[in-house]
Amino acid sequence: MGVTRLNQLHHDAFVFDGHNDLALRLLAGEDPSGRLQGGHLDLPRMREGGFDGGIFAVWSDPDADRPLHDVLDGVARLRVFLEETPGMRLVLTADDLEAAAAASGSGDVAALIGVEGAYGVEEPSDVDRLYDAGARCLTLTWMAHTPWADASGLPPAHGGLTDVGRRILARAEKLGMVADISHSSDATARDVLRAAQRPVIASHSDVRAVADHHRNLSDDLLEELAARGGVLGVNFFSAYLDESFSRGYEAIRERLEREGADDAFQPRSELGRAVAAELKPVPFSRLLEHFRRAIAVAGPEHVGLGSDFDGVLATPEGLDDVRDLPKITAGLAEHGLTDEELRSVLGGNFRRVLSSVLS
Ligand SMILES: [Zn+2]
Repeated sequence: MGVTRLNQLHHDAFVFDGHNDLALRLLAGEDPSGRLQGGHLDLPRMREGGFDGGIFAVWSDPDADRPLHDVLDGVARLRVFLEETPGMRLVLTADDLEAAAAASGSGDVAALIGVEGAYGVEEPSDVDRLYDAGARCLTLTWMAHTPWADASGLPPAHGGLTDVGRRILARAEKLGMVADISHSSDATARDVLRAAQRPVIASHSDVRAVADHHRNLSDDLLEELAARGGVLGVNFFSAYLDESFSRGYEAIRERLEREGADDAFQPRSELGRAVAAELKPVPFSRLLEHFRRAIAVAGPEHVGLGSDFDGVLATPEGLDDVRDLPKITAGLAEHGLTDEELRSVLGGNFRRVLSSVLS
């Protein structure tokens, strides 16, 4: 299969990614409708990379005084940007998503608003406020527990999802919001998968059998996610992809923390600069290994892209920003994926799940 043909397939396909943090830059006052310095995403580069859309996350700070108030404000500001910027399409309904898929190749970029970390959500009616503001994906936790769900990487507080958590999940599903178990602890993820009535996603995680990290999914969880009709978006962050990189990253982070430096998860932060200077990049083939293992365990209908672009400070060699996405298509084709499977992984799977969950 020639590079030109695969490039064409990539640009013709509806490419839809499970998670990006472009909103962090937008909410900090930058304008991603034009070319931005550094980072991974802006509208011109998304067009060049054949990126037709994705879940655009509004990050919730668990330490904020009023996290729900802040995240509602972030969702409102992102929504205004999406509604007012030519070339951006806000996805609120299944019809919006299907229209965006039909317009694939037009250069428009579709955005479904997600909330990363349900901090401040204390009861089901709080989910209505997020929904009314325009959010359609709820990532239950970020790096801290909520009062009703445990996050990964910390000693458990609840041992999974509490009864309140179950009611919050049920409310989100009833409204037509997709539940996202990335960042959840294993026990929380399992409880969500068992309680859910609709397909669930893991928007930006990797595969624990390839790299043992708490942010990644075990084969068991991957199988259960697939059995429930869900999708894993494979994350491009080097520290989740590769155990040796992860150890180096944690050592640098701890050292800088001791020195009192800022711990921003951005390439332009002090941490980002130190990681770039001190650690050897993860080979591109490691990212493909995660895709291959996920596809082997869950099936090609249950795997997608979960870039985490603009939210991570190190990506594999050769994957510098969104313009390098066609390299993933080429790499997966080399490993024997059919054209149909490539289109599913590039965006068809997220399209199917989101269209079935959105009202
Ligand atoms: Zn995240």
